[in-house]
Amino acid sequence: MAEELNPFKIAQEQLDQAAQIMKLDRQAHAILREPKRQLTVTLPVKMRDGTTKTFTGFRVQYNDARGPAKGGIRFHPAETIDTVKALAAWMTWKCSLANIPFGGGKGGVICDPKKFNDVEMENLSRAYMRGIASIVGTNQDVPAPDVYTTPQIMAWMMDEYSRIVGHNDFGMITGKPVEIWGSEGRKDSTAMGGMFVMREAAKALKIDLKKAKIAVQGFGNAGMYAYTLSKSMFGSKVVAISDSAGGVYDPDGLDMKKLEEAKAKTGSVQGYQSKNAKKVSNEQLLELPVDILIPAAIENQVKKDNADRVKAKLLLELANGPVTPDATNILFEKGVVDLPDFLVNSGGVIGSYFEWTQNVSGYYWDTPRFDAELDKIITQSFRDTMATQKGYADKKQKISPRMAAYVIAVDRVARAMKARGWY
Ligand code: NAD
Repeated sequence: MAEELNPFKIAQEQLDQAAQIMKLDRQAHAILREPKRQLTVTLPVKMRDGTTKTFTGFRVQYNDARGPAKGGIRFHPAETIDTVKALAAWMTWKCSLANIPFGGGKGGVICDPKKFNDVEMENLSRAYMRGIASIVGTNQDVPAPDVYTTPQIMAWMMDEYSRIVGHNDFGMITGKPVEIWGSEGRKDSTAMGGMFVMREAAKALKIDLKKAKIAVQGFGNAGMYAYTLSKSMFGSKVVAISDSAGGVYDPDGLDMKKLEEAKAKTGSVQGYQSKNAKKVSNEQLLELPVDILIPAAIENQVKKDNADRVKAKLLLELANGPVTPDATNILFEKGVVDLPDFLVNSGGVIGSYFEWTQNVSGYYWDTPRFDAELDKIITQSFRDTMATQKGYADKKQKISPRMAAYVIAVDRVARAMKARGWY
C-alpha cells in the first residue's frame, strides 16, 4: 500500500492536527499515537474437503482509558494490521465523542468469506474467537459485526467464548441475533442516528427538511434506512440513490416501492423507471443540485478532484471515510458543512452500547426507549461539536467540524489517562 494511502498514517496525521489545535500534552500525544495492544493470531481451520487451511487474524485494542475496547470484526481479503490499527483509533474517538463508556478496538481476519460455506464460516469464527478469547470480554473488549460479518457470526463467537469461560456471557459481543439478547433497534440505529444529526444540522443551517432535496449514495443497511427514515421522519424528498452498479435521479423524488421493484427485477436501483427519472453514475450523484448529500456506501468518494463540484450545503458522512483529508479542506473553504463520519454514523456503536448495557443489567428496553436514548446521546454529540467549533471561532481560529469533534474526543481520553496516572 502506498505510503500516503496508509490508513494508519492518516489516523496519526489527524490526531497530530488535533493535538496541535488543542495544545495536547506531549506525553498524552505520544501514548495516543500508537495502539495499546495488538494481537496477531494464526488460525487453522478445517475446510469442507477435510484439509486444514491457515488464516491470519488480528485484534487491536487502541485505548481503554475510558472503558472496555469496542469495535467490529472484519472478514476481508485485503485486511492488514494497519487498516485494523486505523479503525481501532477511529473507534476510540467515536466512542469518546459519543461520551459512552468504551475505548476503541477493531479486529479482522484475512480471508474471502464469499468462498466459504456455512460450516467453514462457523469453523473460522470459532477459531478466531479461541485465538482472541484471552484478551476480550464484557469488561475488557467487546467486538461487533463489521464488513462481511453478521449476527449469526456474533452468535457463534459468543457461544465459543461462553464455552471457554464456562458460563454464558452475552455482553462480550454486540450485534447478536435478538434470540440471544441482541437489540431490535440496532438494525437501523446507524441511519437513525444520522437522521437525528441531520435534524439538528438542518435547524442550525436553516434548511427546511420538508422541502429539502437529498441524494444518498449506497442502498445497503446505512443508505436504505437513510432513504426511508428521511421520508418517514421528516417528509424530505430523496431525489437520488445508488448502489455499486450506479444511481438514479428524479428531481420529483423517488418511490420506495419502485426502487425495490427495480432492484428485484434488474439487480440495481438503476432499473428505476418514472417520467423524469434518469440514470446517473456514482460520481455524478455526488455533484447533483441537492441540499443534503449523504454518502452511505464506501470510502474515498469525495476527493481532491471532485470536492469543488459538490453543490449540497450539508454533507453527512454516514459511510466510514467517504471524504478524503484533502477534500475535507476544500469543502471547508467552500462553505459546505461536512459532518464527520465518527459523529454522523455513531448511532451504530451507540446502539451497541445499549445492547451491552441491557446484557450487563439483564433488563431489556422497548424500541421507543432505544430510539429516544439514541436521540439524546447523538444530539448532545452534535451540539458539543458545534459549540467547540464556535469556541475556536470566537478565538479567531477557524476549524472544521471534523477537527472540533477530534478535539473533544482526544481531550476526553487524555483527561481519563491523566486521572488514572498514565502520564
Ligand atoms: P452494506 O454492505 O449494507 O451496503 C453497501 C452499499 O454500498 C450497497 O448498496 C452497495 O451496492 C453500495 N456500494 C458498493 N460499492 C459502491 C460504489 N463503488 N459506489 C456506490 N455504492 C457502492 O453496507 P452498510 O452497512 O450500509 O455500510 C455502508 C457504509 O456505512 C460503510 O462505510 C460502513 O462502514 C458504514 N457504517 C455502517 C454501519 C452499520 O451499522 N451498517 C455503522 C457504521 C458505519
